[in-house]
Amino acid sequence: MDIAHIESLVDLPLYPLSVAPAGEATLFLVRGAAGKRLAVLARPADPLLALFAGEPVERQGWQLLLCLLDGANAESLRACLPWLRPAPLGLRPSAGCGDRIGLATPGHVRAARACPGALPGLGMIFAQQSIREMTRSARSAQAVMDDATWGLFQEGWGVPGAGGAANAPAMGADADHLKTPADIDLCVAAGFTFFTIDPSEHVDGRADDRLEPDLRAAYAALPWSDLDSRPAALLAAYRGRRFAGEDRVWQLDEATLVRAAVKYGRAVAHTARLYRHLAAVMRGPFDLELSIDETDTPTTHAEHVFIAAELRRLGVKWTGLAPRYAGSFEKAVDYIGDLAEFERSFAGHAAIARALGPYKLSLHSGSDKFSIYPIAARQARGLLHLKTAGTSYLEALRALAGFDPPLFREILAFSLARFPTDRASYHVSTRLERVPAPSVVPDDELPALLDQPDTRQVLHLTFGSVLNPEHSFRPRLLAGLAAHEEEHYAALERHFIRHLQPLFGGAGVRKLLSDGGFSAASGV
Ligand SMILES: [Zn+2]
Repeated sequence: MDIAHIESLVDLPLYPLSVAPAGEATLFLVRGAAGKRLAVLARPADPLLALFAGEPVERQGWQLLLCLLDGANAESLRACLPWLRPAPLGLRPSAGCGDRIGLATPGHVRAARACPGALPGLGMIFAQQSIREMTRSARSAQAVMDDATWGLFQEGWGVPGAGGAANAPAMGADADHLKTPADIDLCVAAGFTFFTIDPSEHVDGRADDRLEPDLRAAYAALPWSDLDSRPAALLAAYRGRRFAGEDRVWQLDEATLVRAAVKYGRAVAHTARLYRHLAAVMRGPFDLELSIDETDTPTTHAEHVFIAAELRRLGVKWTGLAPRYAGSFEKAVDYIGDLAEFERSFAGHAAIARALGPYKLSLHSGSDKFSIYPIAARQARGLLHLKTAGTSYLEALRALAGFDPPLFREILAFSLARFPTDRASYHVSTRLERVPAPSVVPDDELPALLDQPDTRQVLHLTFGSVLNPEHSFRPRLLAGLAAHEEEHYAALERHFIRHLQPLFGGAGVRKLLSDGGFSAASGV
């Protein structure tokens, strides 16, 4: 059924990209007086109508069902339109767009579409949130999934077009920073396909400073049965062993091995435990990423080799790894550190990922690191995952600063007051005295505050306090963004093109993407 015909039957404004056929019926999104509704237009006898809960209306021999955007209807929508279901991405280059508010997906989709050559080779992740972020923003894993589903549906993501199924873009869903089997179970139930295991609590941050007798004692005390080895056997396994790839060779002498094992041995054992749990509950293919980015000291190349070799020995299959790179990856601002040193560090990690995998290198806290994107694109050779989250919340605030200056000022003042408390779990070098007092900035200069690094960090780190459901900011912000959605999407689109284009839009990466990239393989 064409749009003109649909519009003649439905007297509500509709989102034209959302129109999707489902057998004899048509599904689409409309804007009703009380908010968005999923519309199902079908012949009265169509069994599809029974899948959705909504208000039925009779229209010239058609049944029109107007349905709330709730969890049950989202699940039925994914059942009817398979391209809205996330799937494993394997080794294709990929970008994660975490969304703490739940309204950003249309902006992310538009940015991906606006990057020449990025789609369909680039795997996109729209549903992505860590357990920590879910707790801070009071959202369930299911809500994260469903909000992404509605945004994708609105923009017509994946609707089979001219190229048919072969041209369909790939989409995954990332359950980020998982620390326990219970975290995994929640996210498996919600339909996630990409699982990021974070064993950082099991990394020994003191290992680099331990002196001899203490270091040996820590080595002897590793969980050897979990590691399926013995202290002497592990030493023997690495003695004289060469890991080679391209023009590089990595060897771990005894002192290096012992220190690497003390630092990362428990994390390896914990990862293997969670992997086995995940493989048992998923039963099908999935993507697995290991993140050790949130630790105090950088991951050396030798340590990376140790982690990969040990995970492999324990039967873990993974598609991505986030080491702690050289330099500083503070939230919401550009890379802080020496670019030449970063390139040396990153190039070595990328060579290890190709030689001992292949698997992708993942850039966590990857948003706004504009100065390193050319390096990462050059060195990763397509085996790259970008992970972003809070930067989309900042674009929502940028839009807010434009359409509701008083509310933006209130939020900034509140965030400034919260910052000394909320910064506790982050490593940031924010200087509060550089953040202008909200009351002295004229309305038309408020959006530009989102370009000031210290202000960005203040707003970024306090998102959980602002979005706390006990506070009135959340409903006011959501209502404003719903009423001004085009401004919100435009801000996101502009911002994400700046990320996706240098990383995935360059000629070299484009060639990889059109050649099919690295062959797709997945966790199991
Ligand atoms: Zn991370």
